[in-house]
Amino acid sequence: MTEYLMTIDGEQAASNGTLDVVNPATGEVFATAPECTAELLEAAMTSAESAQRTWAVTEESVRRQALRACAGALIESAAEFANVLTTEQGKPLKDAENEVRAAAGWFAYFAEMEIPQEVVHEDDDLRVELSRRPLGVVAAITPWNYPLLLAAWKIAPALLAGNTVILKPSPYTPLTALLLGTRLSAVLPKGTLNVVTGSDVLGPLITEHAIPRKISFTGSTATGRRVAASAAKTLKHVTLELGGNDAAIVLDDVDPEAVIDQLFWASFANNGQTCVAIKRVYVPESRHEQYVDLFANRANAAVVGDGSAPETQLGPLNNQMQRDIVSRMVESAREDGAQVVTGGSAIDGPGYFYAPTIVTNVKDDADIVANEQFGPALPILSYGTVDEALQRANGTPFGLGGSVWGTDLGAAQKVAAGLECGSAWVNTHMALSPKYPFSGAKTSGLGVENGLLGYLSFTEAQTRHLPKN
Ligand code: NAD
Repeated sequence: MTEYLMTIDGEQAASNGTLDVVNPATGEVFATAPECTAELLEAAMTSAESAQRTWAVTEESVRRQALRACAGALIESAAEFANVLTTEQGKPLKDAENEVRAAAGWFAYFAEMEIPQEVVHEDDDLRVELSRRPLGVVAAITPWNYPLLLAAWKIAPALLAGNTVILKPSPYTPLTALLLGTRLSAVLPKGTLNVVTGSDVLGPLITEHAIPRKISFTGSTATGRRVAASAAKTLKHVTLELGGNDAAIVLDDVDPEAVIDQLFWASFANNGQTCVAIKRVYVPESRHEQYVDLFANRANAAVVGDGSAPETQLGPLNNQMQRDIVSRMVESAREDGAQVVTGGSAIDGPGYFYAPTIVTNVKDDADIVANEQFGPALPILSYGTVDEALQRANGTPFGLGGSVWGTDLGAAQKVAAGLECGSAWVNTHMALSPKYPFSGAKTSGLGVENGLLGYLSFTEAQTRHLPKN
């Protein structure tokens, strides 16, 4: 069994205890990750704190060069990263390869990102500049759905700004993060990136700790609340990227055949385990039956299997707990009179497989509509008027993303402007880039990641009064 190690102060670190890592396609333990002790966490914290003093005053050009080297290191070990990612997360190998490339792309983008200088006042006697200082040590806490990409979202801008990082991945997917620490320690100064792993007790130890000045957290809304409460005690900065329940509103001037593949894959890619996956589809009453049939056909045709098999399009869910959540939501909708058009059950055999599922005639207050299913089960809802569809799309506490699909772009844009969410798309969904600020409205988050705004969230303002004589 392969033993993966933490990165603390530039060194590889084991621990007395370990946690088992399960391959979700087989349900079997295939590797272990260290269970970080309080002492080892302390070592990571002090290393990050001391490295930050040097890193903050290192020339920005050197920091940029380090980010380029990180991108290079990811690409150089892309096959290794992708294999580990598929084995611990479950996603098809092609998707894992895309995630590795995207993570490298995030480092490459921030290596070159322009940071505008702001002069807030200038006259003959005085220049007042708005400058930016790093925050210090950043704790990056990530979930299990995109363990490599979401780590890159945090590490790249944090390091560029002159912070150092302690990365803590989900206990379900610790290995890609551990591998990242190992590979990047070859190209980063020691202590700038520490990677620690452990069970769910480790997160609170980090958020309670006095050293980090910022928590950059991605995960569920319930955990996000705990993180914010804990960070308040030492008044840390927090960025929270939380759960989503994205609606897609399809207008009646759309040819269903022309959009069905995009709609289906924006809902089911990564088995629906994407924060900004489409989680509810609103279609016009007049086309409801046609859309339900088309979605069911796509669900029936999707190839479900072990992510390491080249033909696989949908892997297993990442863990038993998540499969149980999806299963419960589908069952409760069914008991309440909804029609399960296809799928609707776990797939027999080893691993956490669940049949791609289409549900319709389901009430707005059903769990599968009102909450985040985070799995391969999609409700198709019919609407009478566009205003009604918009109101129902906005009718949950979530506000991560949303999309409107229409041929009349002006009309579609108008509806999209009414979506109460951080990313509103027209005729696409889940279009993300390191350039585009990404955020959640309502209970889907606090703060922004990516783009200039995301970078600035790893800094604090310093107003500099500079007399000219
Ligand atoms: P989760 O909230 O259970 O865990 C996320 C991380 O927090 C893990 O590393 C976990 O170990 C850690 N953690 C758990 N309890 C903690 C505590 N008390 N203090 C500090 N850390 C703690 O989420 P998950 O199940 O791993 O991921 C799925 C969720 O993440 C979904 O809700 C999904 O929508 C969300 N998500 C959001 C985004 C986004 O950008 N908005 C992206 C991906 C996933």
